[in-house]
Amino acid sequence: MTILLYDRAKLYRNDRERIDAGIARVLASGRFDWGEEVPQFENELADWLGASHFVATGSGTASLTAALRALGVGPGDQVITVANTEMANSTAIHSVGAEVVWVDTDPVTRCMDVGACAAAVTPRTRALMPVDLYGHPADMPQLRRLADDHGLALIEDACLALGAEIDGRRIGTLADVTCFSFAPGKHLGSFGNAGGCSTEDADVAERLQLVAGDGQARSRHYAVPRPLALHHVEESRNDRMDEIQAAVLRAKLPGLDETLARRRAQAKRYAEGLANVVTIPLEKAGRLHAWRNYVIEVDDRDALAAHLVMHGVQCNALYTPPMHLQPVYEKFGRGRGSLPVTEVSAARLLGLPIGPHLEDADIDEVVRVVRQWAA
Ligand SMILES: *Cc1c(COP(=O)(O)O)cnc(C)c1O
Repeated sequence: MTILLYDRAKLYRNDRERIDAGIARVLASGRFDWGEEVPQFENELADWLGASHFVATGSGTASLTAALRALGVGPGDQVITVANTEMANSTAIHSVGAEVVWVDTDPVTRCMDVGACAAAVTPRTRALMPVDLYGHPADMPQLRRLADDHGLALIEDACLALGAEIDGRRIGTLADVTCFSFAPGKHLGSFGNAGGCSTEDADVAERLQLVAGDGQARSRHYAVPRPLALHHVEESRNDRMDEIQAAVLRAKLPGLDETLARRRAQAKRYAEGLANVVTIPLEKAGRLHAWRNYVIEVDDRDALAAHLVMHGVQCNALYTPPMHLQPVYEKFGRGRGSLPVTEVSAARLLGLPIGPHLEDADIDEVVRVVRQWAA
């Protein structure tokens, strides 16, 4: 029997009645776009986050792109971000014509190093895009100060951090725009692609709707009678969430708190079993980790990975190699050695199974296999 990183079918079975009912509701209504599910989900998620506005999009990548556009980032601008993340950050920044500036990370949180970020600010810097890696929030209070000192936009990539907190406040209100992904493997997983942005600024929320909704005001689609003609005020893509995904997410949202609690309990169980065996991930004071990934570090990572697989434990090494060392970005000439903390971590990190599809006994078995290897 293999201990899996993900088991989407099992999670579906847990919520099957609610999910089936939600999908059936959309199908019966015939409203596959511009229906009630997306706006309802937006309201429900904004409430859950404690945010003023939430705008649904078609993916996490679309959220990052929409945030950049809504905040006016464009050609000639530089955006500071990290390299130990998905390609989505670089893709989004390049897609608006801006330039990616990767900076190094903090060795404990593995999130953006605020000092390195400050040192990278130039007159062309327009925005900061920290990533809440694995679910540990980036240092948003300090990054907010840095952004304010230089008049920069702050876009938080919280695609891995739904439910993370700083000083008792949920991630979602600490940046100009906070971006989320509802890809199937994230905390709140859709059955395809989905994402969204939270913001405290009503004008920014309206712009997010516009740039993710082919440049037309959302209100036109809900007006009665519906306008006869089109009215595009900006050239942009269709990056909206579809109604079926919104219905699925609405069905799963009531279970989110419980799945977060289970992740936290599992992380605690791992910490108890592994603290003196490998380098375990830490939670900084005043921070609540959302534990999307449980990522340990060891010197001989590949050997431990092979041992785990041989003993029926799936594992992964996300996000490696870091972006600056990916073939596609060799052209930027940021070679090996340019982001030393990120690179050392990339060589040592290993993600273990965590999530609501697992039982305590599964975590105990992973602990046993890791300890067996270390002995
Ligand atoms: C998942 C993820 C994204 C992209 O989200 P998609 O929905 O897959 O487009 C962006 N950033 C991070 C850190 C992610 O984990």
